Formats: sequence, structure tokens, C-alpha cells
Amino acid sequence: MEKFYKKIKIDEVLTVGRRITTNIHNSNSSQIVATLAETKNMSVILMNSNGEIELYANNIEGAQAITSVDTLKYYLLAMQAKQHDGEYLYYGDPFAKRMEEKNLFYQRGGLQPHQASDVVTYTKIIDDQQTEKILFVTSTIVPVNATVSTIRKQLLYVTIIMLIVAFLLAFLIAKKIGDPIIRINKKAKELAKNTNEELTFDAKDYLEIAELSDTLSYTSKELAKTEALRRELIANVSHDLRTPLTLICGYAEMMRDLPGENTPENTQIIIEEATRLSALVNDMLDLSKLQAGTQAMERVPYSLTQNIQNIMKRYVALTEQEGYEITFYYDEEVMVNGDALKISQVVYNLINNAINYTGDDKRVAVRQKIVNNKVRIEVTDTGEGIAEENLPYIWDRYYKVDKTHKRAAIGTGLGLSIVQNILKAHHATYGVISERGKGSTFWFEMDRYFPNNV
Ligand code: ADP
Repeated sequence: MEKFYKKIKIDEVLTVGRRITTNIHNSNSSQIVATLAETKNMSVILMNSNGEIELYANNIEGAQAITSVDTLKYYLLAMQAKQHDGEYLYYGDPFAKRMEEKNLFYQRGGLQPHQASDVVTYTKIIDDQQTEKILFVTSTIVPVNATVSTIRKQLLYVTIIMLIVAFLLAFLIAKKIGDPIIRINKKAKELAKNTNEELTFDAKDYLEIAELSDTLSYTSKELAKTEALRRELIANVSHDLRTPLTLICGYAEMMRDLPGENTPENTQIIIEEATRLSALVNDMLDLSKLQAGTQAMERVPYSLTQNIQNIMKRYVALTEQEGYEITFYYDEEVMVNGDALKISQVVYNLINNAINYTGDDKRVAVRQKIVNNKVRIEVTDTGEGIAEENLPYIWDRYYKVDKTHKRAAIGTGLGLSIVQNILKAHHATYGVISERGKGSTFWFEMDRYFPNNV
């Protein structure tokens, strides 16, 4: 650091010396000298060859007035400069009592030696046309060692203070970050043990932890919902399986024990219940396959209109025997690209539901429309409709609006769930429009398929 500082100072002295040299003939040379000497904290003397001072500026603290300085020293410096091509840099104090290098003694009484330990003087012989001038530029090199040791001490204090502050900050930050995490962690462990209760994570200490809290609250909510669903599912499944089984067992036992009961009607009940049971099991299998995505859709172009017409034929018996009026309205034949078997399952499910829930007029309408260049199938009944608050749930598994509905006639509670899964796999849109007391219209829309465009 000291070496570096000295080099800078020496460079500065040289620069100032040379600038003065180039400006010496300017009219405002004395102004330039004064400014340079003042801003750089230097002492500048310009003498003529007779030793008379022409310009003088002193900004070195403790340096003596030039008049009282022994001109001999300046003379010696000038001599050195002459020997060195008119330029000489002397590292030592011309104001000091002793000029060590030259072993010169400054003997005049009353003069204070300059306090600075190191001084550098630049001497330059300026050749003027008429007369020769000598320029002396002197600068102190402040005792850097003292400064360094002060700075070192300050640095030590600053370092200690900074370390304490850093430790405090680290502690505070760790506490601020860590505490909520510990709290959340504790609660998350609770969540692992107890999934059926909705836990709220309310750490809001900072953005990330607030987000984590929200995510965990959401997770807890979802887990609780899933848990509730799972319980309901088990309850429903066991109920749905148990009822037909009980009936089958009951009738079979009755027929075995009471000879008179061995009638075709009772056998029919057993067959119907067994059929229901297998329908339920099939639905459950279908649904789980659909949901697991293992049942791939085999999409091929086919005529949806014809397909629905065929389905309608299956309901002829129902129409004739039970007085239902099931009508299919369409304008043109429409092709779609899809899994014909699965889509007919959708149509069956919707028509079956409509038949189950339609009003006393026993009317069900199936309509094929073209909406926005898509084919739309609507199945409308005239039944009681579905209350608005139940609409979002009817697509859920095992959801039944009226839990105590006349079961025998009604399905498994899986129908719409199967419908939904099949339609989703076809990227079809679907929905229901229902009004209490007026009936419901279930609809779905699919992209049309145009053979010519292939
Ligand atoms: P389900 O086998 O009970 O019919 P779904 O999944 O097919 O099961 O239907 C779910 C529920 O949606 C039904 O229990 C019923 O409450 C309601 N629902 C379905 N279709 C209709 C309809 N056309 N009219 C009135 N309610 C209906």
C-alpha cells in the first residue's frame, strides 16, 4: 500500500511539474500554478538563474516560507537537474534541516524542519529564450504507516461490529424463516395421521411460507374430501351389493323351505336381482377401467345417427308394453369419429335415466342437432328435473339426488359417471339443463366427421 501510494504521489508531482512547464508562457501562468499547488497540496517555486523567485505557491503544511529557505539546496537540486538533462526527481526534504542523501545541513536558526517523513521534489530547468528558469515542485508523502495502522484498527472494530450484526441478523432471519416451518411441519405431521379432518395452515409470515400454507390447507381439504368420498363409496358399494344379495338369499331360502313359494315369479325376482348385481359389478368395472385409462377408445368414423336409430329399436318393447313414448328427431345423417360402442353406452345411459325419471306422460325425446358445425345430442324427459344445487354433483360416482329413491327402478348411481368419463375421453363437451318440475335435458356435443375431407 505504501509503495503504491508513493508511486501515485511521485506521478502526481511529475504531472504537475510538466503541466506548469507547458503553461509557463501563458498570461495566467501564476493562476495555474496557484490552483495546481492548492488542489494537489504541493509547493511550487519558480526561480530565475539569479536565484530570484518569480512564482511561488506553498500548500504544504509546516513548510517554510521560501524566502527563509536556504537557496543553496535549491541550487544543488538545480545542478543535479542540469546533469540529468534538465529534469531531476529528488526524494527527500528540501525543507528539512538535513538532506541525508547529499549530507547537506540546513543550518539557519529558527527554521522548523518539515514534519512529513517523506517529501519528493521535482526539479526542472526551463530554457527560456532570454533567460533560464528553474521549477521546483514539492509534495509530501503522508506517513502512510500511521494511516494504515489507524485504518487497521478501525477495520478491526468495523469487522467485530459487522460480525456481531451478521450473527444477530442470521439469528433473526433463521428464526423468522425457521419458526413457521417448524410450526407447519408439526401440523403436516398431524395431517399425515389424520386425513379426514380439514386442517387449516395459517402461517403468513412471508410470501413463500404463506403459499406453502395455502397449498397444505388445500391438500388437507382435498384429502378430507377424498376420505369422505372413499367412505361414502364403501358404504354405497356395500349397500348396493348387499341389497340384491339379501333379496336373492331370502327368496332362494323361502323357495327351498316353503314348497308353495317355488313359483316362476319368485324365480324371476331372483334372476332380476342377480342381473342387477352383475350390472352393478359391470358398471363398477367399466368405470374403474375408464378412470384408470386402461380401456382405450377405438375411434373410427361411423354414423352416429344410424347408431342412435338402432338403439331406439331396442326400446320398442318398452314402448309397446309399458306405454313409453321415445322419439328420435334428426334432420340429416351425421358421422362422427369415435368409439361407437362407448358412445352408444352414453346414449343408453342417458335414455335409461330419462325413462327412469320422466314424468307421468312417459315421454322421452332424443334430438340430434347441428350447433356450430358440431353434432349435438339431447335427451329430454318431462320429469321432476334436478335442483340447481345438485347439478354439479350428479356426475359423481354413486351420487343420487334422492337417496331413498324407488331403487328397484333406478340404476346404480354410476351411469352418469360412466357417461362423463367416456365423453371426456372423446374430448366431447356435455352438460345438463334442468328445471324443477319441467324435466331435464342431458346433452353432449362432438366434432362432426366428413369422409370427403380425409
Ligand atoms: P342412477 O343409476 O342413480 O340413475 P346416474 O349416475 O345415472 O345414477 O345418475 C345420478 C343421479 O342424477 C341420479 O340418481 C338422479 O338423481 C340424477 N338424474 C340423472 N338423470 C336424471 C334425469 N333425467 N332426471 C332427473 N334426475 C336425473
